[in-house]
Amino acid sequence: MRYFSTRGAQETLSFEETVLTGLAPNGGLYIPESIPQLPEGWQSKWSEYSFMDLSVAVLSLFISSNEISQSELRALVEKSYKTFRHPEITPLQKLDDKTFILELFHGPTFAFKDVALQLLGNFFEFFLNRRNMRKAEGERQEKLTVVGATSGDTGSAAIYGLRNKANISIFILHPKGRVSPIQEAQMTTVTDANVHNLAVKGTFDDCQDIVKSLFADQQFNKKHRLGAVNSINWARILAQTVYYFLSYFHLRKQIATSAPSQSLDDVEIQYVVPTGNFGDILAGYYAKRMGLPIGKLVVATNSNDILARFWKSGTYEKIDSQPSGNNATAPAEGASDGKQAVGGVKETLSPAMDILVSSNFERLLYYLAEEGLESTSQDPTERRRQACAALDGWMKKVKSDGRVEVPTKVLELARRDFLAERVSDQQTLETIKYYFKAEPSYVADPHTAVGLSAAQTISATNPPSTVQVVLSTAHPAKFSEAVTRALETESKFDFERDVLPEEFKGLLERKRNVIDVEAAEVDLVKHVIEQYAGNDEGEGGARQSV
Ligand SMILES: *Cc1c(COP(=O)(O)O)cnc(C)c1O
Repeated sequence: MRYFSTRGAQETLSFEETVLTGLAPNGGLYIPESIPQLPEGWQSKWSEYSFMDLSVAVLSLFISSNEISQSELRALVEKSYKTFRHPEITPLQKLDDKTFILELFHGPTFAFKDVALQLLGNFFEFFLNRRNMRKAEGERQEKLTVVGATSGDTGSAAIYGLRNKANISIFILHPKGRVSPIQEAQMTTVTDANVHNLAVKGTFDDCQDIVKSLFADQQFNKKHRLGAVNSINWARILAQTVYYFLSYFHLRKQIATSAPSQSLDDVEIQYVVPTGNFGDILAGYYAKRMGLPIGKLVVATNSNDILARFWKSGTYEKIDSQPSGNNATAPAEGASDGKQAVGGVKETLSPAMDILVSSNFERLLYYLAEEGLESTSQDPTERRRQACAALDGWMKKVKSDGRVEVPTKVLELARRDFLAERVSDQQTLETIKYYFKAEPSYVADPHTAVGLSAAQTISATNPPSTVQVVLSTAHPAKFSEAVTRALETESKFDFERDVLPEEFKGLLERKRNVIDVEAAEVDLVKHVIEQYAGNDEGEGGARQSV
């Protein structure tokens, strides 16, 4: 299997090159040359498979065996998921006959990003080791310097995915004092020598700008071989397809036991996904395209609702130019005369979904372009070229005009597989409360609550045979402020007793590993990387300043 860029497809890459490259040089995202179909008899053969078995079965359809053999893949998968606390890795919980929760937060940092980043770290290590083993004695070893900015969530999952990996150093920038105490502690209490936390005096945007200029600095980039772990990396999408398969089998078993008279083939399984950068739900789309018989995928957004607006109007637009009715987007804080503040990202109770544009949406747009442009060419290469060209045009328009309107046919195709719903902070809080008071009681984190709220709204128009699976993307203890606020009037609720995991106790007091960066300046950060990259042997955990 080879991969090409959504914005121009002549050159193709192996899986290894795709994973190590991340973003294509022409700005596009890599996608597989074809979407493999499920093998004959998968439904019976895979039905008793574990998460690991399914990972091997699904991933090997996308990775040529001469790149990674089945036994190597199995070893990588087992190493990645033995860090999870739950034997099923991503268990399915029943809330009521029509609603199930797919818990994705049983990994080391208690959020769904672990599912992908645990595996990505092991892929990186595997590829580098293999390259280095093939080198002659005395030849320079290949190393990777991963650099990223975080407002909290991705940083800790990336650090836990890459800690203690050979030939990899990781530098994560966070805005000093502006991430939640638990998230800061999760990142900075990792004391492996290859992990470097940079607390930058500045905002998250400052951190992101610094990272961007590091990548743009060709000399620096080449010297240190910078790598990214952001959500556009193909391996992350691929890893996330697995829990759609696992939950499909788990759900069928649960229905077969609880309602034996119901014919499973009549049940329509709808997946509801709290969405930011569109990676999690895109994995579901691939599963569906491979042949997993699931119904609609529901995009659940918070008030950063570019995707919900796209599915309403067919216009992909950074800033809502037509706020109207009671569904109107409230102006961002600090905005005057009804216009939104520059930047436009709104702070919500579900911060991991606070985005302006959804980077992985580009991958879906490619498929919509390919199918929706009704090319007259029979030649697949020519059809692909036309789809890439159309997509490239759309993305350029988003960049220059802040918006693009797709043809009606493309919007219709998007609506065939997806529904979309926007959820306010108020609805998020009410939903946390509703499910806490329900029987059985369930404490949802605010991101999961966005999914649950969207599921409730949409269920009103669902056919009666629909069953909803809501993806739970974080443990409630990670977002204690929102959860406590929603449940403060509930006398039966006790955060420490009901929510707080053992692993979080004492975390705030543990030894920290942070380098303070006294100003948001690229050169200061470069200096830190120069000092530590490729020089990670020895004791970590020291607190320093530059
Ligand atoms: C990243 C994240 C999301 C959004 O996932 P995408 O793949 O970016 O759509 C939702 N919830 C939590 C807790 C996250 O960390």
